[in-house]
Amino acid sequence: MKRALIAALLITAAPAAAQQSVASLPPPAIADPQIAALRDDAVANDHYAWDIVEGLTTEVGQRLAATDAEARARDWAVKRLTAMGFANVHVEPFTMPVWTRGAESAEIVSPFPQKLAIAALGYSGSTGPNGITGQIVYFPSVDALRAAPDAEVGGKIVFIDHNMQPAQDGSGYGQFGAPRRQGPTIASLKGAIGIVIRSIGTDHHRNPHTGVQYFTDGAKSIPAGALTVPDAEQLVRILKRGRPVTMHLTLVSEKHEGGKSGNVIAEVPGRDPKAPILLVGGHLDSWDLATGAIDDASGIAITTAAAKHIMDAGRPRRTIRIVWFGAEEPGGFGGNAYAKAHGKESYAIAGESDFGADRIWRFSSQLLKSDPAAYAQLAASLAPLGITKNDKGDADGTDVDPTIQAGAPWVSLNQDGTRYFDYHHTPDDTLDKIDPVQLRQNVAAWTAMLASLSGGIESGAKQPKRR
Ligand SMILES: [Zn+2]
Repeated sequence: MKRALIAALLITAAPAAAQQSVASLPPPAIADPQIAALRDDAVANDHYAWDIVEGLTTEVGQRLAATDAEARARDWAVKRLTAMGFANVHVEPFTMPVWTRGAESAEIVSPFPQKLAIAALGYSGSTGPNGITGQIVYFPSVDALRAAPDAEVGGKIVFIDHNMQPAQDGSGYGQFGAPRRQGPTIASLKGAIGIVIRSIGTDHHRNPHTGVQYFTDGAKSIPAGALTVPDAEQLVRILKRGRPVTMHLTLVSEKHEGGKSGNVIAEVPGRDPKAPILLVGGHLDSWDLATGAIDDASGIAITTAAAKHIMDAGRPRRTIRIVWFGAEEPGGFGGNAYAKAHGKESYAIAGESDFGADRIWRFSSQLLKSDPAAYAQLAASLAPLGITKNDKGDADGTDVDPTIQAGAPWVSLNQDGTRYFDYHHTPDDTLDKIDPVQLRQNVAAWTAMLASLSGGIESGAKQPKRR
């Protein structure tokens, strides 16, 4: 009654033109009260996500793909997911080439002898324990390197600079990541003996940002490392003095075939086993420089906590499948293995959290076109968390991408990436970077998404207690 009265007063007070434009809008989608209650409980009270991210980063630590550490992480995952009451908890193994880091250092020999902080890039060639010494040749970008004559590069150590800046949508990573992704191959093909890049990062701490690269197009493997941002800036200042700069570079690493990794899978079984599946997750592996709290313990924690909130509330019509993907960092091996085994199953949605733990600020989904009513419902469920819809967004997530390519509809819940590349792939990716309040907002958003697309949760039909 109160609401009707207010509406009547508003209409009476509004000028005729405003009345007309309001009347021409489609009726707003109102979030279902059950969805709203689950969302609001998660944003206020969730502890599942923090418990997972704190537990995994403390009890396992770094989880480099296809190493014993990643195997310990899978064991931890199976125990935790089982203890939380999920069904069908199991590991699906696969093999892959494994790369591990050894000793690494970089030193200016002349004209101004000094040490620089560096880390090898994934699948870097090894210098061997004695290292290599060469003259530095500077390029402001990958394109400048590509345009250079081979004679300028041959026998030297290439240095590629760039100027990546922080952005809420993380958009700098695509363009400014090129020195890491393409630089080593181009340098090698031009005859360089090694390459160092300015870290693909936005901080000014002496933390190098590692990350994967591959030698393609027949390029032979050469040592490839990332200098910290302040050290890269120091090298630029030294080069600007105009004298030849010589570096001694030691990047020891090992690579061998047949490494063992795997995906950890768990489910909230739906009431209708034939209904398309809701697929969510993140990746279990991390780089080896830190405990991978924001990349990506937080992602698996957020999506798993959300599924747990649905399970606590009752039985969804659709099965929720959680995947803790293995070996994402060295090239999406887990996502490919999953799609090979399960890509042809029927999915209602596929989504992944792999961009830290800061608040979700917008979302996008294929549902905009395939199921506009579901999209409107989703938008209404997320809006109270301050999340706007982005009608022009794209699918994202390395792990779910092969399954999306195989036909699964996608949803992207975009986290604020302003500070993500301060920590990404550095020794600084640790638990203290996670803000528990923002982590809960993430859980609430994923809970609302799952509830909204669950096909309805029957609260009388709780999951059977697991023995
Ligand atoms: Zn990641």
